[in-house]
Amino acid sequence: MAFEGLTSKLQQTFKKLKNKGKLTEKDVKDAMREVKLAMLEADVNYKVVKDFVNSVSERAVGQEVMESLTPAQHVIKIVNEELINLMGKNESKLNISPVPPTVIMFVGLQGAGKTTMAGKLALYLKKHSKKPMLVAADVYRPAAIKQLQVLGSQIDVPVFSLGDKINPVDIAKAGIENAKKSGCDYVIIDTAGRLHIDEELMNELINIKNSVTPNEILLVIDAMTGQDAVNVAEQFNNSLDITGAILTKLDGDTRGGAAISVKAVTGKPIKFVGIGEKLTDIEVFYPDRMASRILGMGDILSLIEKAQEAIDEKKAMDLQSKLMHQQFTLEDFLEQMQQMKKMGPMKDLLKMIPGIDSSKLGDIDIDEKELAHTEAIIKSMTKQERQNPSIINSSRKRRIAAGSGTSIQEVNKLLTGFEQSKKMMKQFADMQKNMKKGKIKF
Ligand code: GDP
Repeated sequence: MAFEGLTSKLQQTFKKLKNKGKLTEKDVKDAMREVKLAMLEADVNYKVVKDFVNSVSERAVGQEVMESLTPAQHVIKIVNEELINLMGKNESKLNISPVPPTVIMFVGLQGAGKTTMAGKLALYLKKHSKKPMLVAADVYRPAAIKQLQVLGSQIDVPVFSLGDKINPVDIAKAGIENAKKSGCDYVIIDTAGRLHIDEELMNELINIKNSVTPNEILLVIDAMTGQDAVNVAEQFNNSLDITGAILTKLDGDTRGGAAISVKAVTGKPIKFVGIGEKLTDIEVFYPDRMASRILGMGDILSLIEKAQEAIDEKKAMDLQSKLMHQQFTLEDFLEQMQQMKKMGPMKDLLKMIPGIDSSKLGDIDIDEKELAHTEAIIKSMTKQERQNPSIINSSRKRRIAAGSGTSIQEVNKLLTGFEQSKKMMKQFADMQKNMKKGKIKF
């Protein structure tokens, strides 16, 4: 995930400040120098860094901070607030057309992740009870139309195409007409990109803009391109007056500077981010949550949302009832694990929890491996064994270990762990019962 380097450097700086107790003006200045270097290394635009550090310094060397009992906390609070300001204060919602359909035009360089993001946004809208339509207006990249059609069929969203022999302006117009007729309330137009910005590309995009007057012109930017991402944003904005940006590939090894700079440089908000290659890897961009992540303070709200999306509410209720009535089997255990897996890699989830030092998460993948082993062991059991583990004798254990590519010790460990958690659950259920009867008071 992005920002790893920046987060750990900022945490080191703040730790030094915390160790100091009272702060002098020089302490704050030194810290700000370190913040400045850390941000520059993370590819934040130079001018943005300069302005940022100036505003933080101005506020941080004031009387109130210096004389407070927890000056370091005060400085961190100011950095957090200024970071949020820089990235746009609040989330920026999509501009909706008063008369449907809302037209969203995607622009950006080739390879930025435009087509993928068109699919992701369509799925996102669908999940929010909207009826999106994708329009294939990239007639230059040979596979672009097919790629969009494949994405569309995966998420069951209609894709409008007139092939690659028709002018993109006409395709866009016809696509919108088609959406109106078929009752679609959102149209996402996937336009062509180039490897570099050129006049021909811009002219074509301007022509589309002028003929369909979109509600949104969203620039899709590859966060991995570092400083260049901001230059691209500036140029597209100058020509097209974009309404917002979408940053892709924030899951990669990017240093994340673009996320911090785009709003400050273009004045246009980031609306969504792409965090992986899967169609569900899209998040609304919340400046405050992003600031929290950058500062290593966690992002509990996003974590809860991920859980809500991944966990089926009915299943959760069933599970609770099974726990209460002690009918929880290894099959339920497996299902619960699979739901957890849907929330993404454990390492990324842990990073959203406040107080977890991301630099120390190096060996967490072992847990992921353990999780995979547990899954393999349970899958190697028969239905009967999963429902009634007490029948698992030594020869069954041998078969399960061989089938799952694990050892008998691992099978034993899982069974003991399962029995223990069942016991704990029973105690918990008893406690709840007693509480209801008023036997336990707090
Ligand atoms: P386009 O030329 O702008 O339409 O780009 P594509 O949508 O074809 O994406 C280019 C490549 O980037 C593909 O291999 C995508 O799978 C990949 N990609 C897109 N978005 C993301 C993302 O958020 N994370 C990662 N890791 N890869 C992405």
